[in-house]
Amino acid sequence: MTRIEQAKKGILTDELRQVATREGIDAEALRQGVADGTIAVVRNTQRDFAPLAIGAKTRIKINANIGTSSSRASIDEEMEKMQVAVRHGCDAVMDLSTAGDLAAIRKALIEQCPVAIGTVPLYEMADFAKRHKKSILELTSDEMFAIVEEHCAQGVDFLTLHCGVTLQTVARFREVGRLAGAVSRGGTIMMEWIHRNRKENPLFEHYDRLLEILARYDVAVSLGDGFRPGALCDASDRVQIEELTVLGELVKRARARNVTSFVEGPGHVPLNQVVANIQIEKTLCDNAPFYVLGPLVTDVSPGYDHIAAAIGGAVAGMAGADFLCYVTPAEHLRLPSVDDVREGVIASRIAAHAADVARGLPGAIEWDNAISKAKMELDWERILSLCVDPEKARRYRQSLPPAGDDSLCSMCGQYCAVKRSRAVAE
Ligand code: SF4
Repeated sequence: MTRIEQAKKGILTDELRQVATREGIDAEALRQGVADGTIAVVRNTQRDFAPLAIGAKTRIKINANIGTSSSRASIDEEMEKMQVAVRHGCDAVMDLSTAGDLAAIRKALIEQCPVAIGTVPLYEMADFAKRHKKSILELTSDEMFAIVEEHCAQGVDFLTLHCGVTLQTVARFREVGRLAGAVSRGGTIMMEWIHRNRKENPLFEHYDRLLEILARYDVAVSLGDGFRPGALCDASDRVQIEELTVLGELVKRARARNVTSFVEGPGHVPLNQVVANIQIEKTLCDNAPFYVLGPLVTDVSPGYDHIAAAIGGAVAGMAGADFLCYVTPAEHLRLPSVDDVREGVIASRIAAHAADVARGLPGAIEWDNAISKAKMELDWERILSLCVDPEKARRYRQSLPPAGDDSLCSMCGQYCAVKRSRAVAE
């Protein structure tokens, strides 16, 4: 039985009890959320870690993308990125490798990563075609499903699959005429496969076959937004909404087959459209957990895209998004370095926490209150330990210590407002 099937039968497993305790929510409410699909609890049956819970009433989670490209393909460096991302608090890691020995990279990640792992099997399909000296366009549906099963059998916890890219949505994409096309790598591979072969997407046409494979390993499907816009002016257009409507249908079918599902979303969205995007997803997809990339609220921020994404992520989270994919300062410019990964994770955690506070998540504001109390007491050890990035905070404080009184900091020195206001209040 999959986790959803057990939840539907009213079985409250030890796993769900542990997740409920960690999330600080009622175990029975969690079981009900899993049963009706509004909460996704994610872990491959073959792995052993504290499962990832995303959805209603849970803490907003964040994902860090790592992975090789043809310009750089070092397993050691990708493992270092994973460790840095986990150390700084990410809840999931997606391996988006497109170069090197993809199965070996995945194996290393599965063995070493203590959080949920996601992949995009379409990248492996493209690599498989290259290794077999044929075009991705010649890939058969049997080959596609074999690769999906390989990822599940290896121990991946969730798969991004672009099932909403169909003959009909590709036709709509051609008709709308966007400024900046689509920026989902897997989505565009599938778009081209459909367009050139004039055939239906096998992952859509044989969706039940896909669900059977996923159910066997209790692997979650992250329904990819294959037409993810790459520019603000293309956001929320007819093709994006049409794909989302298809994904809503696929969520329903996944739930009926007891397969955990959630939905991916944009991307590039003007700030004034972020809330509407969340509301539309929740309506069209029956409150399925929503996983957004950023979203970036401006297109002009390469070098600072982690900031543009954190602004969008905070607003999206406040409006009901459940899972934020980080964006690094390297977005749009190069493969991220280890340091870019750290910056991206921290920016995304700030966005998620700000939204948790705004949503009134039990326990969220207490973190802020604790650091505020420490600031008022000028208890520097405690302040530094409670920062979202204690390492950076300590480095900054030590780089320019206060002159004279070291209970202060070098910002205001003798004019320390905290000290003066404390003197007035006491
Ligand atoms: S010196 Fe200024 S910045 Fe530093 S703790 Fe006091 S009030 Fe805050």
